[in-house]
Amino acid sequence: MHAPDSAVARPGCSRRVAIGCAAHLALGALLAPRAAWARFATRTQARVVATAPFARLEQLAPGVFAVISTPFTGERTTLANGGLVVGRAGILAIEGFFQPAGARWLAEQCRLLTGRIPSHVVCTHYHADHLNGLTGYVDVAVDVATKGIVPPVLHVTATTRELGAVRNTPVDAARSAQLADAMLVPVDAASTIDLGDRVVRVVPRAGHTASDVTIELDEPSIVFGGDLLWNGVVPNYVDATPSRLAPAARAMRRTRETHYVPGHGSVAGDADVARYIDLLDELERAARIARARGQSAADAAKGYALPPTLGEWTVFNATFFERAFAAWFKEWGVA
Ligand SMILES: [Zn+2]
Repeated sequence: MHAPDSAVARPGCSRRVAIGCAAHLALGALLAPRAAWARFATRTQARVVATAPFARLEQLAPGVFAVISTPFTGERTTLANGGLVVGRAGILAIEGFFQPAGARWLAEQCRLLTGRIPSHVVCTHYHADHLNGLTGYVDVAVDVATKGIVPPVLHVTATTRELGAVRNTPVDAARSAQLADAMLVPVDAASTIDLGDRVVRVVPRAGHTASDVTIELDEPSIVFGGDLLWNGVVPNYVDATPSRLAPAARAMRRTRETHYVPGHGSVAGDADVARYIDLLDELERAARIARARGQSAADAAKGYALPPTLGEWTVFNATFFERAFAAWFKEWGVA
């Protein structure tokens, strides 16, 4: 379907189910120049409290940490970003990551930092790089079960639970059980998770998939945007509803100084979010021109380049522009 994803060759992914696994990631062809990756890897806005070959943990504020994945060496324990929000009565982990070892690493860092493991976990959407490693949290809880510690409560929307169960491969019975037991996040209005001395809002949105959520704190002002926000990395439209994507990104943007944790890329500030929205608008503009010319998405993507005014963007995969145009064409009913 979305050929030439070399990532599709990952064991456990067939072409038939590619939308449930590697097609989300499409990290097989790393097109960015080495220098761009190096900048991506080293750009931090905050104090780094832990590093691993696949990610670093940055402290954004007291008790608030961002996991920034750095998948440049083929190391895929984590691919997407996530985080931790520490409260007196509970700790929220954000995302399940790609491999159980990724969730385990975050839970272990959490123990080192706080003496506790996460009590709650939210997955922002169903894609494999955000959800497939969920069992790692259970593994850590089992390791310390003699101290009466229970695995974290999983919070997902009903759509994320359903799509995660039917599309994500390889199927894992333990992960399926976690999804079956999940607390469902309301999608008609924002909900909260009470961590004792701080409350985290879970805001239902959509655009990157049929059901996304953002995790938002007011004090300090921090937004975990999931894959509704990519910083310096061209987003993957494989599941996108583009007419909802840019409005969702605009809706999460705040007027005061805020740390934004994107789904991919370094921690962002307001200027980064503005540039990302400009990118989404540019891709819509290019898709409209292609439609007016009667071009296919594939033809439109051939030779397409972002305007230099948008600055430097990492492109994970050569098909990403085609996917963006195809997503718009699908909404417009253009073959
Ligand atoms: Zn995604």
